[in-house]
Amino acid sequence: MATLRGPHLHTPLASGLSDRDALDRADPAILDPGEDARYVVTRAGTVALTEDADGTLRLLLETEDPRGSSTQPAVLLGRRGGLRVIGVEVPEPRAELDDPGRDLRELRRVADRLDPADAGFALAAVAMGSWHRVTRHCPRCGALLDPETAGWVLRCREDRSEHFPRTDAAVIMAVRDDADRLLLARNAHFPSRFHSVLAGFVEPGETLEAAVAREVAEEVGLEVEEVEYVGSQPWPFPRSLMLGYRAWVRGDTALTLQDEEIAEASWYTREDLAAAVEAEEIGLPGPASMGRALIDDWIAGPAD
Ligand SMILES: [Zn+2]
Repeated sequence: MATLRGPHLHTPLASGLSDRDALDRADPAILDPGEDARYVVTRAGTVALTEDADGTLRLLLETEDPRGSSTQPAVLLGRRGGLRVIGVEVPEPRAELDDPGRDLRELRRVADRLDPADAGFALAAVAMGSWHRVTRHCPRCGALLDPETAGWVLRCREDRSEHFPRTDAAVIMAVRDDADRLLLARNAHFPSRFHSVLAGFVEPGETLEAAVAREVAEEVGLEVEEVEYVGSQPWPFPRSLMLGYRAWVRGDTALTLQDEEIAEASWYTREDLAAAVEAEEIGLPGPASMGRALIDDWIAGPAD
């Protein structure tokens, strides 16, 4: 599988490229059943998987069309070999009879165990399934929407306007000081002990760098002087793209915590952090997350 060279922090959900076959989306027969069709089933953030003996998870590529009716949205996720890979978001089962016993796993909890070749399709399947599940009516006039362009566009039945899936940009940043300590915080909405790096959504009309500086100033009262982009990771729960940064503050590192948002925040040396984790005083984000990748990047040593 192809990889790109770039300023990549290794992130577990961004480990490979899949063939999205975007040029074939205009073909009106591209979602038709056929010998070459394989279906990836999603439901509300879960995806149907199979598990190898070593714990590696793979996409379950079904050969039977799981759509109960032709109006159920399907999405061309792309190609693998000569096969068309099609995502289908299925509704909650009304009764046990409706559920053929698929192993549906919550993607955000298992994404780091996915075979890299499958991660891109799984993330796109969950993201597009979530979009179709909640996007039923035109935001302009309220009329029903119909899928087209292989499920990548919804068109209004009344005013014919087109609607596209959105991705919300979120910055996430490992803030360091002159002594190369790392800032970790506990959001007031996180479970107790759970600490991570700071993060926040990019606001309309704002650059990514400005969003990093604004969030750090708002949440802990520090002035960021330097940022470095290190990589991105899709986080379609329901529709974020995490953009990772290293960020540096110089001089004064006294913290002023944002009321109601940040419950605790502290600077850590590598020794402090290892001891706090060992003593179970703090818990860190899970291995599939960008937050964990940024913390591990800092643990690995000072930036050049
Ligand atoms: Zn409309």
